Amino acid sequence: MTALAMPEPSRETLGRRSEIAADLRKIVPGEGVIVDDVEMRAYESDGLTAYRQTPLVVVLPETVDQVSRVLAYCYENDVKVVPRGAGTSLSGGALPLADAVLLSMTKFNRILEIDFEDRIVRAQPGVTNLGVTRAVEANGFYYAPDPSSQIACSIGGNVAENAGGVHCLKYGLTTNNVLGLEVVLITGEVMRIGGRHLDSGGYDLLAFMVGSEGLLAVVTEVTVRILKAPETARALLIGFPSSEAAGSCVAEIIAAGIIPAGMEMMDKTAILAAEDFVHAGYPRDCEALLIVELDGPAVEVDHLLEKVEHHARANGASHIRVSQSEEERARFWAGRKAAFPAVGRVSPDYYCMDGTIPRKMLPQVLHRMGELSQTYGLGVANVFHAGDGNLHPLILYDANKPGELERAEEFGGEILKLCVEVGGCLTGEHGVGVEKRDLMPAMFTEDDLKQQQRVKCAFDEKHLLNPGKVFPTLHRCAELGRMHIHRGALPFPDIPRF
Ligand SMILES: Cc1cc2nc3c(=O)[nH]c(=O)nc-3n(C[C@H](O)[C@H](O)[C@H](O)COP(=O)(O)OP(=O)(O)OC[C@H]3O[C@@H](n4cnc5c(N)ncnc54)[C@H](O)[C@@H]3O)c2cc1C
Repeated sequence: MTALAMPEPSRETLGRRSEIAADLRKIVPGEGVIVDDVEMRAYESDGLTAYRQTPLVVVLPETVDQVSRVLAYCYENDVKVVPRGAGTSLSGGALPLADAVLLSMTKFNRILEIDFEDRIVRAQPGVTNLGVTRAVEANGFYYAPDPSSQIACSIGGNVAENAGGVHCLKYGLTTNNVLGLEVVLITGEVMRIGGRHLDSGGYDLLAFMVGSEGLLAVVTEVTVRILKAPETARALLIGFPSSEAAGSCVAEIIAAGIIPAGMEMMDKTAILAAEDFVHAGYPRDCEALLIVELDGPAVEVDHLLEKVEHHARANGASHIRVSQSEEERARFWAGRKAAFPAVGRVSPDYYCMDGTIPRKMLPQVLHRMGELSQTYGLGVANVFHAGDGNLHPLILYDANKPGELERAEEFGGEILKLCVEVGGCLTGEHGVGVEKRDLMPAMFTEDDLKQQQRVKCAFDEKHLLNPGKVFPTLHRCAELGRMHIHRGALPFPDIPRF
């Protein structure tokens, strides 16, 4: 059971568990409904492993019709639903609820269409992020957003979290690479949004859906754009004597108008952990490391390499190495991509934070984080998507030591508040989930939050989809829609009421 305040489970729903499971079995027969407590263990947590909860029942649909009927059943019977992709969310977005159906989309694992002329892939939501690139790479194409978890996370989960990755600095986040969706509303209605074209009429519902963390609808199909692989890609490893110097180099490169394909930074703790784990060839005697990738036609890449080297030297770089082969470039990245598990080898537990700051505030934020680390008595390893100001401090703790988890969470909360204070925001790519839910008022006013919840009400007025996530306080939809009658006069009497 989690220590987080989650919506009180409905005793009435808990009491109907066997009946609900039997009804769902009529929709998803065979092994598609799991009720055995031991078998449900695999679903009790996601990437935010400090929190666990056995769901009411797990359902694994295989067709859109099954998803539609399961959701319609839940709507009619007031049963909550938590959608789940691969369960790698680091913000607890897929954390089950005791009285909710866990709707796992893993059986939706097929590529439906590849169109190289239109440069699109239509995929089911359970296809892994890397699976999209794998399906097109033989023809020289790839899917640009590349979360470090790409080998496991699903494209549907990427849509729900608006996932980012190393190459998003130049090519945009998930939201910039998704063209169309098929979604199923909690009422069971199937809806198509966008398509294979760049823009569509009406409200931009695609933008609402991307990043909606399973609160608005269940994604059953995703159309993404694919890109032609660049002619050349080369990476530089640049070591610095301080994080401040590395931070200022990042700001200078961007200010000079260079948009690298990726620009990542690691501090000493992360560098050593990654090097020991992957042997990527990182210098061990620097305080901060930048990995800068440049891609495009060879002549352009050579020109930009020179410019980046110039900025690196001007900021006191102690090591500069340019990849000389594809194999070496992949090795430079292997260390960064394995940085999280590598840190897992040097600390019994770590808590991965995700906040965004204006790039120029990096030195100040790093300094303050160092002070907070002293105050809380906990180490921190820093890994950043430096080019877009997205920080991933990993707070090191030991869950077996009483009070350390709570201290780590408090420390993490302070880091996120610091991000907001310096003009940034609470999340870069991992979503709000349960992890940052209670920090939302640090970023949004009550009016902001109510307006966002009105959008939720337009899709799910019973609050059945993923309740307890994202919003710190749930307002009933009727309460949000209430009218203020001034001196007995109904405002805008000509507008129909419902
Ligand atoms: C080691 C590691 C590294 C990571 N690195 C990155 C990174 O670089 N960048 C990044 O952005 N993230 C990263 N993540 C976080 C995570 O992988 C992403 O948030 C990913 O998008 C989650 O996908 P998933 O399929 O695992 O979704 P889940 O964890 O299963 O679910 C995430 C959210 O999406 C909702 N959801 C899932 N599928 C659907 C669907 N079909 N319809 C509606 N809602 C749905 C769930 O309800 C939940 O709210 C990392 C995680 C790990 C463990």
